[in-house]
Amino acid sequence: MTPLGREIASLIAVEGPISVARYMALCLGHPTLGYYATRDPFGADGDFTTAPEISQMFGELIGLWCAEAWAAMGAPPRVVLVELGPGRGTLMADLLRAARAAPGFREALDVTLVETSPTLRAVQARTLEGAGVPVRWADSVHESLDAAPPEGKRPLPLLVVANEFFDALPVRQFVRIADGWRERVVGLGPGGELGLGLAPDAPTDVALPDCPEGDLRELCAPALDIVASLADHMARHGGAGLVVDYGYVSGAGDTLQAMARHAFVDPLAAPGEADLTAHVDFAALALAARGRGAAVSRPIAQADLLERLGLAARAERLSAQATADQRAGIAAAVARLTDRAPTGMGALFKALAFADPRLGAPPAFDLADPRPA
Ligand code: SAH
Repeated sequence: MTPLGREIASLIAVEGPISVARYMALCLGHPTLGYYATRDPFGADGDFTTAPEISQMFGELIGLWCAEAWAAMGAPPRVVLVELGPGRGTLMADLLRAARAAPGFREALDVTLVETSPTLRAVQARTLEGAGVPVRWADSVHESLDAAPPEGKRPLPLLVVANEFFDALPVRQFVRIADGWRERVVGLGPGGELGLGLAPDAPTDVALPDCPEGDLRELCAPALDIVASLADHMARHGGAGLVVDYGYVSGAGDTLQAMARHAFVDPLAAPGEADLTAHVDFAALALAARGRGAAVSRPIAQADLLERLGLAARAERLSAQATADQRAGIAAAVARLTDRAPTGMGALFKALAFADPRLGAPPAFDLADPRPA
């Protein structure tokens, strides 16, 4: 067992089985032994590769999305750009470079990076050293929103981007058995090993739909809380947000997964040493945003997002100045980011936008629920 596994086993021995959400939160966020606290997990030598690490075009196109959303907001002279879970800071660096194309946009930006991992904060600071835009860090979305209003003035409008952030937030899992729902928990097997089980009684703090016996549902309260807070700020003070992640719009089930060295592993096998995620419930995020008065887009596939933002033209421009090897790399990145096979990044990853309803449809999206201005 890993050091964190031993710590979790002692906790369970004392307190009894813990929820899947608490297990996930400990694995990812334990201050000294958690996955993100201890490492930079990205890239070929790490555990997984994200879209901004595949190609600079990803962050550049998201930068164009932000610039267009800012223009639609009436080009406010100051805007807070929040990135949730910025990883190595690569997306933000590419975004800020592409932002030069929109006169006045970069000058309007105050960047806040929401990041809990000290290791990754240090990497982000290095990546963004020469970016030429003020950058600060916050531990949580609430802290980033509290920091937004300058003393005595109206809170600033907000741009928010998040790639592969929401999948890292802890989910609770519930299983429908014959006489109702039970929460899935992590307990100890006969040999002291971690094992999955069900809480003995029905949960009293959640409302779940009626489902056939055997169904499993996931709830990610922190994700809904974050989206609701952002949407509330946007509806009152202006702004737009873009979420990209792997996930579903309907057809939920058990999506808890662990990944180490680019392969799936048992989520209980190596606590703290494998990345632990759950797919994002886009329908639930959309509801949370709409509930606070934001206009919400129809979720679209990542391939559609990138194609609508001009991936082909961007690849062509980059290729024009590239060597043959670089051109092959650019073509491979385009193919990987827009792969529409069911498990390819272009289809598995989805994008959702939500915004101040006065903005109209966010760039590249249709509104699911058009509202009059
Ligand atoms: N967006 C980046 C990294 C994705 S990995 C990319 O696309 O490459 C998830 C990121 O979210 C990491 O930076 C991780 O440290 C951060 N993170 C995970 N849980 C978090 C939490 N609860 N609060 C803030 N940041 C978190």
